[in-house]
Formats: sequence, structure tokens, C-alpha cells
Amino acid sequence: ATPTAVMVATGVGANLGILIKGGDALERAQKVKYVVFDKTGTLTQGKAAVTTAKVFSGMDLGDFLTLVASAEASSEHPLAKAIVDYAHHYHFFGKLPTAEDTRNQRKEANVSGWLHDVFEFSALPGKGVRCLIHGKWVMVGNRRLLTESGVTIPTEDENFVAELENRAKTGILVAYDDTLVGVLGVADPLKREAIVVIDGLKKMGIQPVIVTGDNWRTAQAVAKEVGIQDVRAEVMPAGKADVIRSFQKDGSVVAMVGDGINDSPALAAADVGMAIGAGTDIAIEAADYVLMRNSLEDVIAAVDLSRKTLARIR
Ligand code: ADP
Ligand code: MG
Repeated sequence: ATPTAVMVATGVGANLGILIKGGDALERAQKVKYVVFDKTGTLTQGKAAVTTAKVFSGMDLGDFLTLVASAEASSEHPLAKAIVDYAHHYHFFGKLPTAEDTRNQRKEANVSGWLHDVFEFSALPGKGVRCLIHGKWVMVGNRRLLTESGVTIPTEDENFVAELENRAKTGILVAYDDTLVGVLGVADPLKREAIVVIDGLKKMGIQPVIVTGDNWRTAQAVAKEVGIQDVRAEVMPAGKADVIRSFQKDGSVVAMVGDGINDSPALAAADVGMAIGAGTDIAIEAADYVLMRNSLEDVIAAVDLSRKTLARIR
């Protein structure tokens, strides 16, 4: 494109809330063949809320929730925030929050005073958290976290988790002293425009893909809801960029849409990286496009803008 065409298109983009970092990115977007979407916070609203708490052992529900919240209180992960909110409500009101309560309770939960002291805390990206409480190891996270540490998951508990995941919820397992003591189910609804946008991309001849650190069952349930056939799940944070490169192997132009810190290597590896405006600063820095309105519709608008800009000068 000529410098003038680039300038005009950049201006049109800016008016739509689509920030384009340079003419190269603008040119590449017209040829996009695959759009790889992060799941959490990109296809979904990123408003995780606990919907299920199930204790497998004889532990009291309140004790279970306080244990889990204590372990998660130092984590920055959106799942951790949802869990602390949920446990906080139970602690102060003596009952589980309703969906309505959860929507209203978006402010910081007061975590002082009711949580256990935590030692040797570590956050394990793509897996969960681990720490010592009362001298025993507590683990909160996915299957991989527990099984890698040798915690066994009894078949009936596994079935309970699988059933949650088949309904698009993320199952979070909790181990205390190397025994599985319970599980939480977390829901994160799809963005309202997601289904229409995926359909629109397909009609433009572009193939949508999901990449996520979440488990296969949840990822597949979400993919089915939104109409995506190609799913890459249980991808460790460093692995998302490898997924992008695998699509680029035959010379295809690949776009990545993401919001998280763990999406930034993939945003950088993609031919066209698109960050959700509400995403983390690191993702925004790594991207070629920033979608300021946080709407997935702007993925289509960005490709359209590129196609039109380049068609005009040919
Ligand atoms: P995503 O691709 O969805 O952004 P992440 O790499 O952040 O995923 O996390 C992948 C999975 O690791 C989550 O779905 C969850 O099962 C687990 N996980 C990560 N951090 C935590 C945490 N703080 N508490 C519980 N589970 C976690
Ligand atoms: Mg995300």
C-alpha cells in the first residue's frame, strides 16, 4: 500500500477503535487464513464465577472454601479471584452466593482476618497454585498439577469433574496432604458476539481455531457452543506460540487474538497479532492491532479494512 493509503486506513481504523501499528500489519491482515483465538477472556467474557463446590472427603464446606481461598489469595489469576470471592461470601453470609450475588460482588474481597497463613507459595503457570498450610501441602489447579505430584484421582471423583467440564465449566481440583479433598466448577460465559463473528469469519474463507491452557473437555464444549472445529487444549503458556508456528509452516498467514500475559509470545509469533484492548499491557505491546472496543466484531472489521485498503490501490 502507498503511505497515503496506509495513513487513511489507520485513521479509519482509529475511528472504529482499532489501533494499527504500522503498514506491514495492515497489509498482512488481508491474507489471513487462520484466526487463532485464546479462550479465556477472548472468546469468553473473562468473568469467571464459581458455580459448584463439592467436597469429596468428610471436610466441612466452610473449612474447604477457606483452605482453597487461602491458597489462591496470593494468585493474580482470574480463576483465583473468582474462588476468593466465592469463599468470602460463604464466610461472611454463611451461605453460598447466588449467581446474582456473584455478579454484584466484583469489588475486591476482604481477605484479611479469615484466611490461613500460607508458606512456600508458588504459582505454577498453566497448572495452578501450591503452598503449605498448617504444615501440609495444598494444591489447587488442574489434573496435571495434582497427578504430577502423585495425587490419585478416584474414578467417581474424576467422573464428577468430567461432567462439569462437558458443560463447559473449568474443574478446579483441590488436594490437601496429597489427597483429593474437593473440586470447584467455574463458569465463564461466551461473549455475546462470539457465535456471529465465528460464523462471519468462516463465510470470509477464514478458519477459526481455539488455543487454551484449559482442559480438553471444557475447551471442546466451548468450541462446540461457538462453532469452532479446530481445538488445541492443555497448551502450556510457552506452547501457544508453537501452535501459531505450526499453522504458518505451509506459508499460511495466521492471526492470533488474545488478552493475557500468556498470549503475548503467540501474539508476537503471529503474522497479525490482535490484542483485546481490556487485556494485559504485555499482550497489547506484543500485538500489531489493539481492539479498543473489546468486541470480537473488530477482528472482522480489521480484516475487511485491510482487504478494502489494498483492493483500492490495485
Ligand atoms: P488460559 O489459556 O485459559 O488463559 P492458563 O494458562 O492461565 O489458561 O491456565 C490454564 C489452566 O491452569 C486453567 O484452566 C486452570 O485449570 C489452571 N490454573 C492456572 N492458574 C490457576 C490458579 N491460580 N488456580 C487454579 N487453577 C489454575
Ligand atoms: Mg485469556
